[in-house]
Amino acid sequence: MEPIVGIDLGTTNSEIAYIIEGNAIVLEDNDNGIVPSCVGLDDQGTILVGEAARNQAVAAPERTVLSVKRRMGSDEKIRLGDADYLPQEISAFIVKSLKSRAEKILGRTVNRAVITVPAYFTDAQRQATREAGEIAGLEVARIINEPTAASLAYESEQKAPRRILVYDLGGGTFDVSIVRIEEGVVEVLASTGDNRLGGDDFDQKIVDLLAAHCRDQLGLKLSPETDPMVFARLKRAAETAKKTLSSAPYALIEEDHIGRKKFQDRHLSYELSRTDFEELILDEVDRTMESVNQALKDASLLPSAIDKIILVGGSTRIPMIPRRLEAKFGRAPHGEIDPDLCVALGAAIQGGREMGIDATGVLLDVTPYTFGTSALGEVNGQPCMTTFVPLIRRNTKLPAARTEAFCTLYDDQEAVDVKVFQGENPDALDNIQIGKYTFELSRQPEGSVVTLHFDLDVNGILKIEAVEKDTGKKLNAVIENALSRFSEDEMAASRERIQTLWGEKTAPEDGQTAVQANTLPPDVSEMLNRAESLLDDASVEDRDEMINLMEDIADAARAGDLEAARERMAELDDILFYIG
Ligand code: AMP
Repeated sequence: MEPIVGIDLGTTNSEIAYIIEGNAIVLEDNDNGIVPSCVGLDDQGTILVGEAARNQAVAAPERTVLSVKRRMGSDEKIRLGDADYLPQEISAFIVKSLKSRAEKILGRTVNRAVITVPAYFTDAQRQATREAGEIAGLEVARIINEPTAASLAYESEQKAPRRILVYDLGGGTFDVSIVRIEEGVVEVLASTGDNRLGGDDFDQKIVDLLAAHCRDQLGLKLSPETDPMVFARLKRAAETAKKTLSSAPYALIEEDHIGRKKFQDRHLSYELSRTDFEELILDEVDRTMESVNQALKDASLLPSAIDKIILVGGSTRIPMIPRRLEAKFGRAPHGEIDPDLCVALGAAIQGGREMGIDATGVLLDVTPYTFGTSALGEVNGQPCMTTFVPLIRRNTKLPAARTEAFCTLYDDQEAVDVKVFQGENPDALDNIQIGKYTFELSRQPEGSVVTLHFDLDVNGILKIEAVEKDTGKKLNAVIENALSRFSEDEMAASRERIQTLWGEKTAPEDGQTAVQANTLPPDVSEMLNRAESLLDDASVEDRDEMINLMEDIADAARAGDLEAARERMAELDDILFYIG
């Protein structure tokens, strides 16, 4: 049977996938299968595609083309070396490189492909994409929409009609689409977004912050025009820190010899917290949520009519994104299929169908349970010493790792009980406790940070590490069979046993107290969500006032000052009452 591969021809990255033994697989060539959508010429005039081209982008911008997808459908000439090329010709280099990769791995020629495009692409842009495939020597069996492909990756076997919201935040573009899928047939109901918004903007925000730090603390006046190499280093460091913050509460950015002042080398060392990063990108994330509202409006649907939310694009790994979507829709979005690869996998599933193979899907190792710890917080609006704080959520692809920060509750706290729970209930005591370790602290002031790291592998081995941030003091533990299933009876028995052991669900033992989670109590997030959903209906003045109050409430709640948060919530409630 002649193979039909699936290609995701992205703005930042591209991938090629194929059905092997009934499962869609992204084709890797000693890499992770992600090929930067970058084309260049080296100093000998040889064509470079992917990582090699991206690596020379700063040093040789005149010989490198980035983000050609933005120009597809135009007849703009792109200069590369001594010649001019059309956008589809530059894209054809990327397709050709993907085609060779597939031929090398599959050991046969590949002549046909399904290629994906954004749902908003015009006929001219689709035609240019088809031509890119043909110039590269591929017959384009089908052009399909990216949200369609993502839905196929998740729902190819679903028969009943489902409405799916696809939130796609990549490196340079943001798209949100609502699709309806029934018996594998997908219809796009609404699609909107911003093709100038993505992870690159987040990197830039960090770069700006670092440049300001270099100016204020190191006395270095840097500008992208005069110091392009330094800015390239800052950009790389910024992207690495951003990615670190997706699984850890802090990222240390260190760049030696970043500049010279008074005949001395200056070194950059800056710790960025996730909280500060989230503040930096708040406006951009708000804009994506406005587009989500717009898509719902365009499809004439309420949030409750959405059956599933799918995360696509590398930037959806930023924890704030699923958190905001969960707050809006009241259910966790799905990101278990690698968000960078999901579209290519869906294209391969469509390719499989074109070949007449129907029963195809994506093979996944995910955790069936959420793993977390307990901390001081609230459950159903009531203060609770045992609020469940999830670290690794159900349906996360394995292996998975995550670090969270907690604060001690009082000066000279002697110890903290690190408890590990498996389950989905907001009160940790209703979940299954699978580990408990006493971590002796070194008597620091109140609010000292203890980070807790969970690392869960495909074999169910859960490694736990608690670190006292200021001293580096550590506690390590391993739970060997964290994924073993509890039957309902075992679950009930275990719950009872744990509750008896605990006695009342009140204060922990002396000197070994819970730590405070950096999460919002449910009534606070509920109020913030309600206010957010009414922002569009508010007058300009009310809107400003609401935003200020919302920020104050979130800040106060995060700082643990629930009284101040509640006072401001009462003020916000008054405004909301009049808006509706
Ligand atoms: P895409 O265009 O879908 O390939 O997404 C690429 C973007 O995702 C880039 O801006 C990456 O920096 C970003 N990205 C990839 N992994 C992560 C991560 N773990 N956390 C935050 N952003 C990420």
